[in-house]
This record gives sequence, C-alpha cells and structure tokens, in this order.
Amino acid sequence: MNVTELARRLKMTTKEFLDLLPELGFDIGRKAIKIDKNLVEKIIMAVEADKRKKNLLASEKQVKEIKLGDDSEPEKVVKELKIPQVIIVKDLAERMNLPIAKVMAELMKNGILTNLNERIDFTTATIIAEDLGFKVELEENSAENESLAEGDKLRAELKLASKGDLPLRSPVVVVMGHVDHGKTKLLDAIRETNVVEGEAGGITQHIGAYQATTRGRKITFLDTPGHEAFSAMRSRGSKIADVAIIVIAADDGLRPQSLEVLNLVQREKLPFIIAINKIDKEGADVERVKKSLSEINLVSEDWGGSVVCVPISAKEKKGLPELLDMILLLADMEELKADPTVPAIGTIVESHIDKGEGAVATVLIQNGTLRVGEMVTVGKVAGKIKALKDWLGNDVASAGPSMPVKILGLKDIPQVGDVLMATLDKKKIKELLKQSGYKKPASTDRPGATVKEEDGQVAAEQFKIILKTDVLGSQEAIVESLNKFIDPEVSVKLLKKGLGNITDADVLEAKGANAVIIAFGVKNFPSAADLARETGVEILYFDIIYKLLEEVEARLKAMLKPEVIRTELGTVQVLAIFKTVKKEMIVGGKVLQGRIKPNTKAKIIRAGEFITLGDITEVRSGKQIVPELVKGESAGLKFVGEPVIMENDILEIYQEEIRSRELKKA
Ligand code: GDP
Repeated sequence: MNVTELARRLKMTTKEFLDLLPELGFDIGRKAIKIDKNLVEKIIMAVEADKRKKNLLASEKQVKEIKLGDDSEPEKVVKELKIPQVIIVKDLAERMNLPIAKVMAELMKNGILTNLNERIDFTTATIIAEDLGFKVELEENSAENESLAEGDKLRAELKLASKGDLPLRSPVVVVMGHVDHGKTKLLDAIRETNVVEGEAGGITQHIGAYQATTRGRKITFLDTPGHEAFSAMRSRGSKIADVAIIVIAADDGLRPQSLEVLNLVQREKLPFIIAINKIDKEGADVERVKKSLSEINLVSEDWGGSVVCVPISAKEKKGLPELLDMILLLADMEELKADPTVPAIGTIVESHIDKGEGAVATVLIQNGTLRVGEMVTVGKVAGKIKALKDWLGNDVASAGPSMPVKILGLKDIPQVGDVLMATLDKKKIKELLKQSGYKKPASTDRPGATVKEEDGQVAAEQFKIILKTDVLGSQEAIVESLNKFIDPEVSVKLLKKGLGNITDADVLEAKGANAVIIAFGVKNFPSAADLARETGVEILYFDIIYKLLEEVEARLKAMLKPEVIRTELGTVQVLAIFKTVKKEMIVGGKVLQGRIKPNTKAKIIRAGEFITLGDITEVRSGKQIVPELVKGESAGLKFVGEPVIMENDILEIYQEEIRSRELKKA
C-alpha cells in the first residue's frame, strides 16, 4: 500500500504519519513510498492505539487526582502573561481570562478603586496579576503601547495647535444625561432645525456625528449614545468633546445617571451646559431642578452661581437658539484652534461593516485636513481613503478640523476611540496592510463556546455574547448583573454592547466571533433576521432581566464540565496474566500499598510511565470474590479496558467520583 494512501486513511498528513512511525517502533525510513502488506494492519492498530492514548492523556489532564499519602493542595500552575506599560482593567481581565469582577476585587484588596475602563500602569497590573498566579513580563510594541503613543501624539498635536496663531475651529459637543430625559430628541430637534439640507435631497444620515449651523457658525454634535462613546474615547486617553450638554428632564429631576455624568464632566474639567428639558410637560419644574443642583454645589447663574442652565423643550423645539448660543459662548472662551494645513489626525466615533460598502467608519477630524486618496492608519488598521461622505450623504473631497466624515476604504473596522492619522510613512502602511483583514477566531461546534489550549492546559470556556438593548439604563443593569458570573472555568464574554435593533452588522460580527446575540427590549431589522437564519447565528430575545440572566446561567452550566475526583486507594504489582479476552483481562498480583476494591479505576504504569486507564470490576482472593484486599495480600483482578497489561506492570487503583459542578457566582 502507498504511504500517502495509508496516511490519508488514518486521517493524517504524510509528514505527520512518517514522523510518528519511528515513535511507534516502525522503521520504514522517511523516503519509503510503499508499505508491505503485512505491516499495514500492524501500523493501523498501533496508530489507532496511539491516538486513543493521546486522547486519554488529554482528558486525564482535567481530572483532580489525590495520591496516597498526599493531603496537600495540587501545585499551583504558574501561567505566563505579557502586559504593556499601561493597560485598561477590562483588557487585563481578558488577558488573564478572568472575570472583570475578580480583577476589580483584587485591585480593591490592594486599595485601588477603579472602573473597568480605567487604565492602570504596569507595576499595578503586575502586582495584581502575580497575586492571581501569573508570571508577568513587559510586552514591547503592543497595540496598547501604540494606541497610547497615538493618543499621546494626538494630545501633543492638539496642544500645539491650541497655542499657535491659527484659525478657530468649531466646538464639538457631546450630549449626556439620564435615560429618557430626551438626549435623542434634542439631537434630532437640533438636526431638524439647524442642519442646512444638502442640494440633492440630502437626508441627514446617522454617521455618529453631524454639524449644525447657527449664526453662520458650525457646531459639531456627537450623536452616538453619549455616555458610551464618551467613556470609550476617554479610555484611549484622548478627549474629543469640547463642551457637554447634560440633559435633565424638568418633570423628573436629577437621577443617578445625571449625577454620574455631572461627576464625570467635572472630573474631566469639560465645560458643560445643563439643558433642563421637557418644560412643556405638566409637572415640569425648572426651579426644583435648579434647587437640587445647588444642593450638590452646582449653582445656576440666575441664582448667583456659575452653572449655565437653559430651559428647553426638545419636543416643541423651544429654547434651542438659546442653547446653541450658550455653546458658542463657551467655545469662544475656550479659544478652540486647529491647523488645517497639516496631515489629518482624528478619532473614530463610529464604525461598522456595511453590506455594500464594507468596513466604514466615521472619523472626527481634530487637526489637519483629510483628503480622498490619502493613506491612513487607524490603530492596527490601514487603508487608502476611497471616498469621504458628510452627514448628509454627500461626497466630499476633504474634511477639515471638527468635521465628522464617513470614510470608505479601510481594510477592517477600527474601534471607536481609535486614532486616525494620515501618513506618508509607506513602510508602516505596508506592515499594517499585511496584518489587517478579518480575524476570525477558531470556531467549535457549539455556538458561543470556545476552548483555548495553552501549554496543554485546557483554559476557560467562554459564552460569547453581543448585547443589544433598548436603553442605556437596561444595558448597564445587564452588564452589571453579568459580572456576577465569576466561575474561573466558564465565563461570559461580552464582545459588544449597543443600543437599538439588531443590525446585519451585529449578525456578521456574531458569526465571525461565534457568538450569540442577546436582545433586550429590542427587535431585529428584518434583513438581520434573514441573515441570522442563513448564517446560523442564534438570537435570544428578552424583556425581563432575570429571565435573561437565568438563560445565561443555564448556558454557562451546560458548558461546565463535571468534576472528576480520583482518590488513590492502593497499588498492585502484576505477577501473572491468566486470561485475555477482547476488552477483558484476568491478572494476578500482590497488593503493594493501601487497599483495593472492585468498581474502581486502574491506571497501568510500566517503568514509571502511564500506559492506559481501565476498570477493576472484580477482586478475588484465590477463587473467592471479595470486597476488599489489603497490603501484602495476593489478588486476582478482573480488568476491563485496553487489554495491554503485562507482567511486572504496576496498577494504581483509584476510587472515582464524578461531581456535577456548581456554577460560581459573586
Ligand atoms: P434619551 O433616552 O435621553 O435619548 O431620551 P429620548 O430622546 O428617547 O426621549 C425619551 C422620551 O421623552 C421620548 O418619548 C420623547 O418623545 C420624550 N421627550 C423628549 N423630549 C421631550 C420634551 O421636550 N417634551 C416632552 N413632552 N417629551 C419629550
């Protein structure tokens, strides 16, 4: 028979096959083309036995074994970990394959209070990681170091631009506030009243940002859900908004998220205006809002303080001119400048895969001018700008400071918060182009589950999800609740969270990453449902948080492998083989240590090496079946398994217990 043919029959490559043969004691030479007929059967049997043994060894790794006279804890496995100079807490958790909650708890133990998007330095990260059993090394040239460097470059450039004798640029505004207080309505109202419609029937497009015009001046509004975009961008260390509008509903007053964003803008020293919304509503009480603001030391101007409060109704479009005037006033005080003559630098505020256009992203230009045809780098992604489109869908040839533009031509989707740079460095572009492309993680049969093999260790399994919710409040509540699943072996991996209905892009992303989409209070666009069916992506819909959590828990439980605990009872030295039939052997020997019983497991050890595992179904003393034999006694054993026991082998006898594991929760 041909060597290649036999290799194929054994489901191996010819190289693998030829490499394995000498290991199994067959010496046919590496150049052999044909194999003798007599040898073929023997080789097949040997290769199959070898496969079984390797599978067995792999599954054995997961068994917790307690040896005779061993009451110590199993030795801790030291895992190696590389981390960059600075790392975001949630990225650190991801690299260690541990739940974020666990990492944050460890940080807290060391007196460090952070949120999951906060950056910690190498020294801090090392202390935490070492406590959690890792050996840490500094990672050179990592993406994080690079994006940090890019963030630094952006900050340096913007600082320089703000000092020079340069033209003023439009302010960039972010709208934040408690859910349902009217952020979207306000952004829509300004868009409807202050955007000069394009000539060709321009309908404003949602590209993540738009520009409004008032008194002949432009104001850029970020219309990605404020809080989410803001924290993502902050995590890269670059600040992209110049002014924040904090919306507070006059009929509802200060709510937890209002307080959270007020704290945030003050900490970030971001100038802000408070828009007291819904003044048209019954029960609206502007003065009550001002009073509660004064209680947290934010005193409105008309109460003698310095906080700008503008009463508005987004629904009836009242108070909008006053609000826009205030933005311009604040901007003028800030003297926002930029240099339109240099190569562009900016931040990604939105990105997704479009079925027709491929990877698209919206960049907010912060300095310089971006032109069609230029080469750009964004984090690890590179590309040549094929087209630029403004928020009205019009093609534009260039975009200057403070202008948001949709860019076409990237090879992959960048992350929100990534820094875009127009570059002339051909070498860097080439390198990045080589690396870019869709990176699909290895998939397994089960949707949403992956098993990583590292150093032969079976690492934790992850239930990967993409979460879409109706409002930010429910998103935050769900994300927070998911943190309670802290089992080291099975964890929830939130790949992406977003607001609104499920889109085609969500489905494609889920498919690429082998994830499940979880929809809370939202539906799917009809095309997305079709796409999900075609691609086999699972979508789970919920309206009640505890039902969602129950399902996640059930999925995690199903992924949890039962725990096998094997306790060694004793050892037997084999002195004689009495009988061998198919998968059964009767052997005789002497109990060297401990005691032995039927219905136990036996490991065959030959010259110190583990050969295989089988079952002891019967123990005899002479002809008599007995329940137990102890050290020094002669034993007759019925062994069921691979019939490979030889004289002088040692049988290690174990009691095996299979326990279904409880899911660990915080
Ligand atoms: P967001 O969650 O902060 O983006 O809030 P939305 O903009 O979605 O608004 C929440 C609800 O409040 C919607 O039903 C809006 O129609 C309503 N709303 C927003 N602004 C006003 C307003 O000025 N007056 C009234 N009466 N309703 C408003």
